[in-house]
Amino acid sequence: MFEKLRNILKQKKESSPKKYLSCEYIQHGFNVDYEDIKMCCFNCHEGGGRQILIDNYKGEMIDWKKFFKEKRKMRELNKQGITLERCKGCFFLKEREWDDEDYINYMVFNHWTQCNCKCKYCFTNEQSDFFNARKNYNMYPVIKKLADMGKIRGGGEIGFGGGEPALLPEFEPMVNMLLDVGCDNIRVHSSGVKYSKAIERGLGEGKLTLVVSVDSGTPETYENIKRVPHFHTVWKNLAEYASKQGENKYKAKTKYIIYPGFNDSKEEFDKFLDLSYNAGIRSMVIDVEGGWYIQNKYKVPDYIYELLDYTLKRADEASMKNVEVYDRANDMRIHKEEYIKLRDNANNNQ
Ligand code: SF4
Ligand code: SF4
Repeated sequence: MFEKLRNILKQKKESSPKKYLSCEYIQHGFNVDYEDIKMCCFNCHEGGGRQILIDNYKGEMIDWKKFFKEKRKMRELNKQGITLERCKGCFFLKEREWDDEDYINYMVFNHWTQCNCKCKYCFTNEQSDFFNARKNYNMYPVIKKLADMGKIRGGGEIGFGGGEPALLPEFEPMVNMLLDVGCDNIRVHSSGVKYSKAIERGLGEGKLTLVVSVDSGTPETYENIKRVPHFHTVWKNLAEYASKQGENKYKAKTKYIIYPGFNDSKEEFDKFLDLSYNAGIRSMVIDVEGGWYIQNKYKVPDYIYELLDYTLKRADEASMKNVEVYDRANDMRIHKEEYIKLRDNANNNQ
């Protein structure tokens, strides 16, 4: 009797899924980049991330069955306790039970580079002629095939970066198709210069988050950073998007990237906050400019730490909800004491 029970329990244990270290992108995701398909778009950790899944990609139809087979191989490595070199140190790795099914619910689209802004901090800046002239490939038929196979699911996150998504010819049909097949968490980073009906639909249905990085509270600062004269157009579009949110009041977000030397004053942020509020925006994102941060991580001056705290305090006072602090600003907050100590030691040793 006891022997039988022991065997049943043993079998049950063996057939139940095991916990292992992996992440959503390894399991069910990919990042469409402008020259290849990568596993994800993260690169701020020891391993460097951005594992290439399909090299030298130009929009050809993907053999999805083969693609899933490759993903299963990576999943098997994770099951054996092996972490991919490029994933080492990534904070997205989690130990938990993962399902064994073939489907996609995490996608990032970054395959075009044209934009209607010319931000000083943009990665396209150093080769702007190349990036603006680059022809982008059309991902719609490729993703539509995946959708027709019933292999796209909700419950994950679909991100649009770029370039400016609203300029992408397939953007409107792509977002509509993703909404139609049940994607319920689409995130679009847009310049806000061109109004999009697909964004409006997603906001209205509460399934799309829009992030517009205005970074300024005055036309002068805007033009200094963005180098285009669209300050008033962007706020007009933001007010229109905000009015279409219906019950979902926190899906249209403005973003303030603290860019030392350009918008690093409390007055500028206050004006930005007022404009956001008056446009009907009730949520925002705060970050610190990436290129500057990489060079200055261990020598951030006190007034930038203070400004970061101030933006969050003021957003809270203005009843902004779901305020997000992106990676760099978050790193600054988490490691503040350690980084200040390193900075001060380095200054004392000079
Ligand atoms: S663990 Fe990190 S680096 Fe690896 S695929 Fe996931 S998100 Fe990308
Ligand atoms: S809006 Fe984005 S893609 Fe366009 S120039 Fe600015 S940073 Fe680059």
